Amino acid sequence: MTSTERTRTYWLEHAWLGTHVEPGVAVTVADGRVLAVRREVPAPPPGAEILRGLTLPGLANAHSHAFHRALRGTVQVGSGTFWTWREVMYSVADRLTPETYLDLARAVYAEMALAGITAVGEFHYVHHAPGGTPYADPNAMGEALIEAAAEAGIRITLLDTCYLSSGFGEPPGTHQLRFSDGTAEAWAQRSSLLKERDHARIGAAIHSVRAVPADQLATVARWAEERRAPLHVHLSEQTAENDACQQAHGRTPTALLAENGVLGPRTTGVHNTHLTDEDIALLGRSRTGTCMCPTTERDLADGIGPAAALQRAGSPLSLGSDSHAVVDLLEEARAMELNERLRTHTRGHWTAAALLRAATADGHAALGWDDTGRIEAGARADLATIALDSVRTAGPLPRLGAETAVFAATAADVRHTIVGGRHVVRDGAHTLVPDVPRALARAAEALRA
Ligand SMILES: [Zn+2]
Repeated sequence: MTSTERTRTYWLEHAWLGTHVEPGVAVTVADGRVLAVRREVPAPPPGAEILRGLTLPGLANAHSHAFHRALRGTVQVGSGTFWTWREVMYSVADRLTPETYLDLARAVYAEMALAGITAVGEFHYVHHAPGGTPYADPNAMGEALIEAAAEAGIRITLLDTCYLSSGFGEPPGTHQLRFSDGTAEAWAQRSSLLKERDHARIGAAIHSVRAVPADQLATVARWAEERRAPLHVHLSEQTAENDACQQAHGRTPTALLAENGVLGPRTTGVHNTHLTDEDIALLGRSRTGTCMCPTTERDLADGIGPAAALQRAGSPLSLGSDSHAVVDLLEEARAMELNERLRTHTRGHWTAAALLRAATADGHAALGWDDTGRIEAGARADLATIALDSVRTAGPLPRLGAETAVFAATAADVRHTIVGGRHVVRDGAHTLVPDVPRALARAAEALRA
């Protein structure tokens, strides 16, 4: 087959081109990448595949724990805190095997594809069998996630997570034994065995300053630096973490990370909720990214992070569905703005364009996919098309600026998802995983006690 035979053209009724919406855009794709973008094409060229609605670059879900999807609903009964929620979450983690995790993650990533997500950052720490015994393949769990993403048709950055302690100076608890490699050096050896593929990048994560002792932080940072890989870390999601860090080290988690060489432009702090002014300045100056997960942060009663101040200080923003209370990047994007409105009693902190940038180009960059998240020649052909004629989006949107659909559309409005030029979702149906709701139900059922 010649390269010409592999060329295909999409006609986008409306296209988000990073700064504005353009009607009638032809996108030619070959070998998974955009060859050319032609504007002012009022009608579909012969043979073109028609994408009706508003086509965005594919959405990046920069923070995911796939197994948390099995908790949906069950954790909405009763009251409690982040810490009581965590006990329920651990009981599901206890029951995961490489086989059940593959089934669950395939369904979860298929749900993401249906929501227009073309790349996921999987913050992965359930490494070993219960009790901490390594599997015959020490990366059996991580490999299950990489395989799940392939079968669901999306890209993954496996953020292999170092998790060594239950708190400052505390060994891992019973539930956490399967998360721990013992030392950062042992974590590095195991992680180094993971191989990148076409759809998969390997990055690193520090679970949190609670879970990685200060003297081991630099080992993880060095591993990521040597590979020029993304490095993510849960940061100041809860005030209890800040208090314990102050008690153990006399400084904030952000200051501790800065001292140990963790911050920098390839690093992303996840949540960044309870920060001091100096923390914000440290993150901004070092160009460390911020991944906000607003639907999880409100679900877990975390608080509202200072996303606007972080961005002003120089921290690029990305978005994640984290615990998958819902999987909807459009909701994550508008929630960031709407939270800020509630906090400040003023509107208009981010434009629709700025929210889309966090959900696309900057989200991909946080996951190490620098050539994705834009509709332009040379970029990977990852696209998500949102219906503009649903009950939520019908009306004057195209005339006003169709990108404002980010304030009204939901994951249910995603009509097409294209990854590397391949239709993974067509007309709202997944092309690789036949019945996603059923797959989710079965996988969650298999993990029930
Ligand atoms: Zn998380």
